[in-house]
Amino acid sequence: MTPAVRLRGATKRYGNLTALDRVSLDIEPGEVFALLGPNGAGKTTLISLVAGTALATEGIVEVLGHDVVRDYRFTRRAVGLVPQEINFDPFFTVEETLQFQAGYFGVRLPEERLVDILGNLGLLEKRRANTRSLSGGMKRRLLIAKALVHRPPVLFLDEPTAGVDVELRRDLWSYVKRLAAEGTTVVLTTHYLEEAEELAERIGVIRDGRLLVVEHKDQLLAHYGKRTVRLALEQPVREVPIPGAQLLEGGKTVIFTPRVGETLSGTLQAMSGLRIADVQTREPRLETVIIELLHSPALPEPVPGNGATGREQVFRQAKERVLEPEERTLGMRTLYRKEVKRFLRVPGQTILSPLVTTALYFVVFGWSLGGRLREIDGIPYVRFLVPGLVMLGLINNAFLNTSSSLFIMKLQGTMVDLLITPLSYGEILAAFIAAGLTRALLVGTLTWATATLFVGPLLPHPFLALLAAVLVSIAFAALGVLVALWAEKFEQVNFIPTFVITPLTFLGGVFYSAAMLPPAFQALLHFNPIYYMIESMRFALVGRSDSSPLAGFGILLVLAAAMVLWALLLLRKGYKIRS
Ligand code: ADP
Repeated sequence: MTPAVRLRGATKRYGNLTALDRVSLDIEPGEVFALLGPNGAGKTTLISLVAGTALATEGIVEVLGHDVVRDYRFTRRAVGLVPQEINFDPFFTVEETLQFQAGYFGVRLPEERLVDILGNLGLLEKRRANTRSLSGGMKRRLLIAKALVHRPPVLFLDEPTAGVDVELRRDLWSYVKRLAAEGTTVVLTTHYLEEAEELAERIGVIRDGRLLVVEHKDQLLAHYGKRTVRLALEQPVREVPIPGAQLLEGGKTVIFTPRVGETLSGTLQAMSGLRIADVQTREPRLETVIIELLHSPALPEPVPGNGATGREQVFRQAKERVLEPEERTLGMRTLYRKEVKRFLRVPGQTILSPLVTTALYFVVFGWSLGGRLREIDGIPYVRFLVPGLVMLGLINNAFLNTSSSLFIMKLQGTMVDLLITPLSYGEILAAFIAAGLTRALLVGTLTWATATLFVGPLLPHPFLALLAAVLVSIAFAALGVLVALWAEKFEQVNFIPTFVITPLTFLGGVFYSAAMLPPAFQALLHFNPIYYMIESMRFALVGRSDSSPLAGFGILLVLAAAMVLWALLLLRKGYKIRS
């Protein structure tokens, strides 16, 4: 029978560190499995390989019989993940968060299902609250709700009750039990043994990336647990006929460990003749067993599975539960919508601020310099400025939208939300670039419209203007993705606009014509790609260009294509996001 989750020799190495070492494990459909082990043992790593946030270095990882790499679209739809870290996009409400997450999986979240999930987790009153305003406990519950939007038959909970109060812990336990009763396979990691004891049927103990033991809870106790018996004697003795017994308190107390399944009568008969004042037995505790296991030097390799347990029906139901996407492009469109909604939530920053900046350039440079430089090649200076300013708006907004959004997702951990979905890298990139393009075109159009108020209509080649705007925005939106992937600090995200884009734009002829420069500078200008962008836009808007418009558009096209391909390549490699 096929297990719900199957690992064979699954290994994950980070440089020299082996976070997971040849782990073989079968998790049966419908069971609740707990993974125990100290910090850094590899529990999260194991989960990451199945859920798709990390890729195995070696070995096989399968969900419901499908390989997690080859058949990632299927396995991602089959798996739900409640990550350890609380991660929400601070721009959205509880209900938007859930709707977006469902959308990434290609399914819609109908009102009744939304109400059902929120109701079950006690979040109904908070449906329109911003996720930032939720209490810690509510955030934990929302994390679970988010993992359940696509009704996954296999659910991973990574320390679901870390840091929550006793009452909420009990609530979450009963919810997990309900999910399990409905046939969901649940795998949880926990520090609380009580939690494993309460919920799990089988327990896996992991240390230094090695799976030490996998057993049923009771068998674990039976195999490794020690029941101790303490006899209090009326008269002290010097020795007792019990192998391995300890004598304490001057021979008045005997302590021994009966073998599993052994009755006490034999031992007590051997002691006949001695007067026993009292008998105490101490039952084995899971805690002691786990601690001893973690300290035992070498154990035999655990068997991956516990054999078929007549769960074929659960398996079949699990497979049937995996939702097919309602529309092929819904996931990508949802990500695009989320990205657009995100920048529209802060219009002052994303729309108004660039407009004010542009208007300031316009007023300061146009009026002050315009007094002296009345015309360039017969074009009034204030008109001459417009294409460069439009380009500035396009470049900055396309870049900022993707770079800041993606970087924040990386920083806040909401990147995980995308990595566990069936979205391909191409789809993720397309959605991000499309949103950057949308913002850039919006700001570019507004800049252009504002300018026409000052200097009259400008648009000799509308099609070329649009083409230039689209190509430049795509190129810089893709560059934003590249920078966000590469950056590890916010500073680094800002580095590119401050030290590369802005200087190149200013030097690229926003405010002057190349012909006005000394020959050496003119020659240098031809190495600045932004120069061609501005020239293309100038040709499209005011019908004048220093360089050949054809060459300009050619360069734009090549640049846009190169940026997109580079970003796709890095994403494909999982560069700094999917380890
Ligand atoms: P646990 O969940 O059991 O606490 P983890 O699976 O998070 O343990 O970590 C196992 C080991 O792998 C740790 O030593 C951890 O530092 C390392 N590790 C985890 N993720 C990464 C990563 N992205 N890069 C480098 N090392 C990592």
